[in-house]
Amino acid sequence: MTRFHMHVIVVALVGALAIFCGNYALLIGALIVSFAIVSLGVVWPRLSLFGPFICRGTNSRRCVALTFDDGPDVRSTPALLDLLHEARVEAAFFAIGKRVAAERELAARIVREGHLLENHSFAHSNATNFFTIPRLKVELTQAQEAIQLATGIAPKLFRPPMGLSNPNVFHAARALGLKVVGWTARGFDTQVKDPERVVKRIVRQLQPGAIILLHDGNIPAERLLVTVKLLLAKLHERGYEVVRLDKILK
Ligand SMILES: [Zn+2]
Repeated sequence: MTRFHMHVIVVALVGALAIFCGNYALLIGALIVSFAIVSLGVVWPRLSLFGPFICRGTNSRRCVALTFDDGPDVRSTPALLDLLHEARVEAAFFAIGKRVAAERELAARIVREGHLLENHSFAHSNATNFFTIPRLKVELTQAQEAIQLATGIAPKLFRPPMGLSNPNVFHAARALGLKVVGWTARGFDTQVKDPERVVKRIVRQLQPGAIILLHDGNIPAERLLVTVKLLLAKLHERGYEVVRLDKILK
């Protein structure tokens, strides 16, 4: 039973009690609070309201994992791969299926260089959170197939577009054997233009097992590289080791 199921039961009981007592103020209050909690659950992965949203690794050592969303992007991913190779860092890329289909060689390079290539939907539609379960299954399956075709490896993890979720997202992911992954720390790197501010924000949220969210798609390569270099220096300074995502999820 998820937190959402428990929430529905509590709201139903309070609602029934309110109706039984004729207390409509209580009924309206319960519905407003319920709406607020569900809305929060949709946008806030760490609440894990609808299912097991993995937002932190289990590793208690000072290890963190880097994750990059929305690629592969020919304008930024190759330079990022060069930088990660130089720094001997393995990351996880939550890729958009249709971009993988268009950039198969780049996707294959990501895996060849020791990184994970995971599922971030096929089309990254802003409406993904409104999709029905069958539509979601098609969306996730198309991304699985595109990634497997390009790399020979089927993803095991799924990060919903924009981190938005609902019971359908967990149902579809579970049906495909995918674990749903969020993040611990992010710096809004696609919106904030100053890499120092992005890194500062991430560093404030650091903790052992942290999953760090960055983007390698829809971001200028230069800004991405400065951000990652700065972040790696800060992590090193604070004694954090960067490990691949699957190693802190064990
Ligand atoms: Zn995304």
